[in-house]
Amino acid sequence: MRKKIVAGNWKMNMNLQEGIALAKELNESLKAEKPNCDVVICTPFIHLASIAQFLDQNIIGLGAENCADKEKGAYTGEVSAAMVKSTGAQYVIIGHSERREYYKETPEILKEKVLLAQANGLKVIFCIGESLEEREAGKQNEVVKAELEGSLFNLSKEDFEKVVIAYEPIWAIGTGKTATADQAEEIHAYIRSVIAEKYGEETADGTSILYGGSCKASNAPELFAKKDIDGGLIGGASLKCADFKGIIDAFN
Ligand code: PEP
Repeated sequence: MRKKIVAGNWKMNMNLQEGIALAKELNESLKAEKPNCDVVICTPFIHLASIAQFLDQNIIGLGAENCADKEKGAYTGEVSAAMVKSTGAQYVIIGHSERREYYKETPEILKEKVLLAQANGLKVIFCIGESLEEREAGKQNEVVKAELEGSLFNLSKEDFEKVVIAYEPIWAIGTGKTATADQAEEIHAYIRSVIAEKYGEETADGTSILYGGSCKASNAPELFAKKDIDGGLIGGASLKCADFKGIIDAFN
């Protein structure tokens, strides 16, 4: 059975003290009431080492939102996968559409990041998804397939099986527009079929594919009830304990 996962992506929100307070609140809340799915919080780099000190990582996994595409050395301002791992984090988001768009991260760069993350023992949450223009042109399947091929399909079957996919239509991120559960299910099923073609049915069946894009407590139950939707990658609604917990509770 593939894993059900709810992962938060804090993005560039909250200073260190605010982030610690939120992680503590979430930790207490989920210790008191164990979730029915894996829960992960992905935070800015500066929060990781502090949060790793107290987070019960049997209940909540900790991850970064990015890592460098270089192993080490003279890359001012960059944070390597090894550095992320050394904080006590276990996960890293790679390929978020905001990184692709604002920081011009290409499939080739993302491929390097995935390799380095895995070489350093981090679990990769890899984001794919089409823009509004691409969806309106009916190109969404083509886009997600190319994103998988461009940065992940070089992996061995064994390494691919360690990756979590997050399908995030760009037009639904932070816009309040969610893909309908049927729209999301349709493309999740397609993504799974592309994985099956490349790595076989068993690998495809075991791959967790999360939905991301204006997911909240009110629409999570319908989305997560779909056969090929294994949870969510949550931006805005991961910034308040009650909102995030409301989404986690969709699995209860
Ligand atoms: C995200 O950026 O990963 C995301 C899904 O954001 P939001 O939930 O705010 O749409």
